[in-house]
Amino acid sequence: MFKFDQPALDLLAELSNTVSVSGNETAIRDVIYSHIKDHVTDVSVDTMGNLFVTKKGTGASDLNVMATAHMDEVGVMIVAVEGNGTLRFTNVGGLDPRIMIGTPMVVGKTNQLGVINAVPVHLQGSNRKATIGMSSLRIDIGASSKEAAGGKVKPGDYGTFAMEFADLGPAVRGKALDNRIGCFNLIQLILGDAFPFDLQCAFTVQEEVGLRGAKIAAWALDPDVALVLEATPANDLPVSDPDAENIHYNTKLAHGPALSLADATTLFNHKLAKHFADIGTENAIPHQFRQPGGGGNDAGIIQKSRGGVPVLTISVPARYIHSPAAIISKSDVENTINLATAGLRALTPDSYTL
Ligand SMILES: [Zn+2]
Repeated sequence: MFKFDQPALDLLAELSNTVSVSGNETAIRDVIYSHIKDHVTDVSVDTMGNLFVTKKGTGASDLNVMATAHMDEVGVMIVAVEGNGTLRFTNVGGLDPRIMIGTPMVVGKTNQLGVINAVPVHLQGSNRKATIGMSSLRIDIGASSKEAAGGKVKPGDYGTFAMEFADLGPAVRGKALDNRIGCFNLIQLILGDAFPFDLQCAFTVQEEVGLRGAKIAAWALDPDVALVLEATPANDLPVSDPDAENIHYNTKLAHGPALSLADATTLFNHKLAKHFADIGTENAIPHQFRQPGGGGNDAGIIQKSRGGVPVLTISVPARYIHSPAAIISKSDVENTINLATAGLRALTPDSYTL
């Protein structure tokens, strides 16, 4: 059974703190590989940057099982250095400009520190309630002119939130926990005991811009069945109408891993969802069902690969994903790893054949 210890926390911190926005996954891929390299075979990286590794099984089953987690994080791409030294940017993945104003950022190949511009409250006047578009935001790296910016950051460079991972006791806080927590969980599966079958693992790229890496990863692996490890919103805080508290949640923090039934891109294999839920019940591992609705993940494209692939997504509930810092519960992470391990170990074609 997986339980957090200091080395595990240090690994999660390293994964969260690594800067690797969609399309620029080399740094996070190198970190992941450094932690699994002694435990895997058949290592390859494809043209888009997906990392493939095999965790050898005991040989008791010849099922071709794919387990996957996307490595990329949302962020920004610099598109111009303005005459006043600030950086114009576009979003990479889904970002809300309202949570970006005044946010510390890290940009460029040398991880230059900066901040997104904000008009001080004293000077806002009647504009205080105005909505702000992404196009009016700039990153300020402390340069007063284009020359002073000194070519430290160039168009095409990436940036993301400058946020140090923190251990909060029962929970952790960090940037990019969508989906570094999925990567962490997949790493733990790789470091754990052998499964009956070879586990074909794919750490995918460019999920946040449209499930792009997983499309070719699924085609390449041609699996019998696939498990996607993710983070999903825990929209579980009270809203202005207290009676609505239990209506609008998607998942709830510290209520166990979330099994997906339906989202905007996938109707998940219901036998596979039941298989993992039953295993959770039998082993007293808390779990919950992600409430159907919007959003989607790599499962949406893996399911439609080649002749079709039975898929299930198991997610760690995360508050405030796609913001400078998300919060996840340590118990949810432990239960996710333990549920995924037990469910995979018991997997047969009967677990998903409709
Ligand atoms: Zn994700």
